[in-house]
Amino acid sequence: LLEVKDLNKKFGGLVVSKDINLQVQEGQIYGIIGPNGAGKSTLFNQISGYIKPDSGNVIFNGKDITGLPPHKLCLEGIGRTFQIVKPFGNKTVLYNVAVGAFARTNNRKEAFEIAEQVVKQVGLESKRDFLAKNLTIVDRKRLEIAKALATKPKLLLLDEVLAGLTPSEVDEAILLIKELRDSGITILMIEHVMRAVMALCEYVLVISYGTEISRGTPEEVTQDPNVITAYLGDDDDA
Ligand code: ATP
Ligand code: MG
Repeated sequence: LLEVKDLNKKFGGLVVSKDINLQVQEGQIYGIIGPNGAGKSTLFNQISGYIKPDSGNVIFNGKDITGLPPHKLCLEGIGRTFQIVKPFGNKTVLYNVAVGAFARTNNRKEAFEIAEQVVKQVGLESKRDFLAKNLTIVDRKRLEIAKALATKPKLLLLDEVLAGLTPSEVDEAILLIKELRDSGITILMIEHVMRAVMALCEYVLVISYGTEISRGTPEEVTQDPNVITAYLGDDDDA
């Protein structure tokens, strides 16, 4: 469904993507892991059109989408969450999700219908009329996922949606992500919580300093000495 070919990106002298290649098959949950500052979010920004790569290609559904802006990619079927969530705090959960749906439809009624359905899907039904600013961290994450789902993606990019959650909240989120996959959405996820990567991802790409250092099943990469070395001194819970 998604193919990234020889992607390169520098910010001035800082190499953030160096010859990055990946292929996500339809129906897969594909993980991207790596230490802080590895270039994971920047890779998402290139796949989802927020940043243009210096060279290389992004192919989605057989079409070269390299450099297309986010709103066009959204219509192609790529949805994403952001590592730092920024809902409209003084608007309701339902309204925030409907805004996501507006990227797909100009029809207000239809946008709110999609929002109703998506709010249920992520388990925020009982909080649909809460103001976004009053949500707990886990519900903010659910809202972030809901906003992306409201664009009806074929491919969903999740950028550390489990960060800051308690162990039981992580368990619930793992179930939600499995349900999304089972509903037919292909998922590419950046994640630091290794337990979730082990439980969810069929395949993992590991990057450090913008470069691939390992790839394989979660079991394979966590036993790779390259990966263990890259994480030494990193104080995340990887
Ligand atoms: P984290 O796990 O902390 O989220 P990450 O792997 O997502 O890290 P990125 O956010 O992709 O890392 O950042 C990669 C590097 O690029 C970092 O050194 C970061 O400071 C730098 N960087 C990110 N965005 C920009 C930008 N717009 N301009 C210049 N440098 C940037
Ligand atoms: Mg990041």
